[in-house]
Amino acid sequence: KKVIFSGMQPSGNITLGNYLGALKNWTKLQDEYNCLFCIVDLHALTVRQNPAELRKRAREVLMQYIAAGLDPEKNIIYYQSHVPAHAELAWILNCFTYMGELNRMTQFKEKSQKHKDNINAGLFTYPVLMAADILLYQADLVPVGNDQSQHLEITRDIAIRFNNLYGDTFTVPEGYFPKVGARIMSLQEPTKKMSKSDENENAYIALLDSPDTIVRKLKRAVTDSEAKIQYTDKQPGIKNLLDIYCSITEESVEEAVDRFSSLGYGEFKLKVAEAIIEELRPLQNRFYELEKDKAYIDGIIKTNAEKASYIANRTLRKVQKKIGLPPIV
Ligand code: ATP
Ligand code: MG
Repeated sequence: KKVIFSGMQPSGNITLGNYLGALKNWTKLQDEYNCLFCIVDLHALTVRQNPAELRKRAREVLMQYIAAGLDPEKNIIYYQSHVPAHAELAWILNCFTYMGELNRMTQFKEKSQKHKDNINAGLFTYPVLMAADILLYQADLVPVGNDQSQHLEITRDIAIRFNNLYGDTFTVPEGYFPKVGARIMSLQEPTKKMSKSDENENAYIALLDSPDTIVRKLKRAVTDSEAKIQYTDKQPGIKNLLDIYCSITEESVEEAVDRFSSLGYGEFKLKVAEAIIEELRPLQNRFYELEKDKAYIDGIIKTNAEKASYIANRTLRKVQKKIGLPPIV
């Protein structure tokens, strides 16, 4: 079986964008592949976090992975910080990554615009830690949203560079992007991607939002004054709502446009809200069930961290040996 690695930062509540761009697809891959789904808590530290909130959210993200349908027996679901090999390999790979390469990363540019008071070195080397995450498990495929394609490219470059220097060490991974839903946009600024760390809660739908909240956020979603439901870049708000709808229902955009063309924006928004509510209902029910079973979740955290460590350490030892770090004996 081929290996899949993917992850999410506990930097906010999982959004509909994360779900349609990543999480939902993961659930479809779990039978066919050996999957690792990480909660990348070390990555989340690149932005200042409140410790108590981070701890709470990290647990919620894990429960939402499971509530969305990821089987913790079949997949390795774990926290990045529980496997120190991630940070160790990241250091080594830092020494095989050029400043010039990292300077080109648009996520760094965007996030350092947003957090001008905290442009830390971790934010800059974020893609290197991500490369370590992926390469440690010899992943073949990495299912992520479009916004991560640049990071995946640099991961491949680092892997190839290392393999050329030291002989075959890392599997060179491929990105795996969904056809629809790979880039869900903000409900408030539809030319920007939806982000879980957005300060404006109206900009995103969180997976645990109540039906009322979902309807309210949809009603407030920014559209335009064209008064026409069409799929065009000139109407980014409407286009985004169509993307959301079609990604959920797996209907083609043409069909949806056809069916909704006679509706006003208000009615159309309600249709989209309904689709979202129905999609999230079973996930929310499972989440609130899981929340009651602390011991079960604790058990998953422990056993999965052990499984991940075992694989990760194998790769790390191999790397250490190849580059000439002295063995313990
Ligand atoms: P942050 O704002 O803290 O970076 P985020 O919403 O971008 O949070 P990440 O944890 O960085 O979430 O990314 C998790 C996964 O969700 C990645 O696979 C990423 O590509 C995907 N993703 C993030 N935003 C979107 C989006 N708007 N549409 C589709 N996929 C997305
Ligand atoms: Mg992100």
